[in-house]
Amino acid sequence: MLWRHVAALLWPARCAGCNAFVPEGVSFCPSCEVSIVSLGVCCPGCAMPVDAFGACQGCQKMPLPFARAQAALAYGGALAQALLRWKHGGQRHVARSLAGYLAPLLARAADQGAEIACPVPLHPRRLRDRGFNQALDLLRAARPRVASIAIACDALARTVDTPSLGHGTPAQRRRIVANAFAVARPGKIEGKHVLLVDDVMTTGATLAECSRVLLEAGAKEVAVTVLARAI
Ligand SMILES: [Zn+2]
Ligand SMILES: [Zn+2]
Repeated sequence: MLWRHVAALLWPARCAGCNAFVPEGVSFCPSCEVSIVSLGVCCPGCAMPVDAFGACQGCQKMPLPFARAQAALAYGGALAQALLRWKHGGQRHVARSLAGYLAPLLARAADQGAEIACPVPLHPRRLRDRGFNQALDLLRAARPRVASIAIACDALARTVDTPSLGHGTPAQRRRIVANAFAVARPGKIEGKHVLLVDDVMTTGATLAECSRVLLEAGAKEVAVTVLARAI
């Protein structure tokens, strides 16, 4: 355990949001922490917060193709800063600070039967530019606490380099990602309960399209787990 103390001295823990020093094992400093919103009661279909009795309007209008969805946090505040620093600032270690929020959700998904986790893939060109797939980094950092789920990082592929979904309407977003994904290794997902994992879910268009191709290729069931939900 000595090396841990040495590592903590050499690389002290930093706030994922603002990079301030924090105690070991803490993800956000107190002033960033106040903007982190854990999601309470959510729609099991799309992970949007609902009151205890309220039905989800979105799912009534257009149900999503996955069996269930869960998210740890609401997107925004210091979490949005952390995601920026991580994905666009090259601060890859931020994944470790955020993985603690994902791990309990992975454990719940495993209890619900998830056998294999697929990170939402990046197009090879995007992967080359960024150097890493954030969904895969998050999964790898969280998985030691949920060993019963295997990771299939190459089962799904992004075959079209879609433009950023930005602020498009749900219909525009669905059109942009239509046919952008393919199952590269059907053997890994056939007959399996697959868990799709991503960092952020906005309208769910990307996750819906991934689910569609996974189910078409023979997955028994697809569920979704994300770190953050835009609400
Ligand atoms: Zn901070
Ligand atoms: Zn819903």
